Amino acid sequence: MNRQKSFENDKPTLYLVPTPIGNLSEMTPRAIEVLKSVDVIACEDTRTSGQLLKHFEIKNRLITYQNFNEDPAAKGIINLLSQGHNVALISDAGYPLISDPGQRVVSEASAMGFNVVPLSGPNAMLNALVASGLVVQPFLFAGFLPAGRTDCLKKLREYRSYPMTLIFYEAPHRIEKMMKNCLEVLGDRRCCIARELTKMHEEFLRGTIRELLPELAGLKGEMVVVIEGNRDDYSSDVDYGEILTMVNEAVAAGMTTSAAIRQIASETGVSKNKIYELVHQQEN
Ligand code: SAM
Repeated sequence: MNRQKSFENDKPTLYLVPTPIGNLSEMTPRAIEVLKSVDVIACEDTRTSGQLLKHFEIKNRLITYQNFNEDPAAKGIINLLSQGHNVALISDAGYPLISDPGQRVVSEASAMGFNVVPLSGPNAMLNALVASGLVVQPFLFAGFLPAGRTDCLKKLREYRSYPMTLIFYEAPHRIEKMMKNCLEVLGDRRCCIARELTKMHEEFLRGTIRELLPELAGLKGEMVVVIEGNRDDYSSDVDYGEILTMVNEAVAAGMTTSAAIRQIASETGVSKNKIYELVHQQEN
């Protein structure tokens, strides 16, 4: 058991500081203040973060913290905290830990009773999710899919029956293959590719996977893929006869067929399309 009252003790603190994913105006005043006030800033790449700090006139000591050396780097930060220093963790862009390094040091620092304090700020998957036009809750953020086809398909099969909206990060040179894999395993679902978020060439491609595929060759920039969850498997243990009875009863009680379908869909979690299909089959 470990209870942290972030601002009611004088223990050393590890701050998790998000940085802009494109538009520098998204750097918050609190992020600047914390980066100026800590003793050390741990970053992925001192050149990338050095430029950011220079832009905001933050003069502070930078050390590296990378995925491939997460073990020794975490120990280094824990040593600094143990010596009474406050440390800020940043990544090249967005939130640290989100498809970026930091998991180990946060687990260790929190287990050891140091304060771990997150700041609010930019993150690519949330921008993509809320503007996708797809259902936002519940969602599953899966990060990058494995690069190899076999592992990628295997991972997608794991997600195939999930009812929640799926969010992936992907590199531009792999997007076409990745979406073909998604079509193969998930079927032709509705999706959204959010590209170059917060930047000048920000773009959203919305449609079904099959509709988007011809647009993907040569698509450049950073991108997030948001894909509709599985609505049918979600309802696989549902008695469709019972659903139909519920609709018929609602209609008999005076509701229009569309209103009844909407209501039963929201009550049962079965998709409106599936219920329309059942009603249509009954009518023919
Ligand atoms: N930590 C970051 C975050 O909080 O979003 C993510 C870092 S991850 C190494 C980089 C990936 O995030 C990119 O390949 C892309 O999929 C996504 N990404 C980052 N910035 C983006 C942007 N401006 N527009 C679209 N996707 C972005």
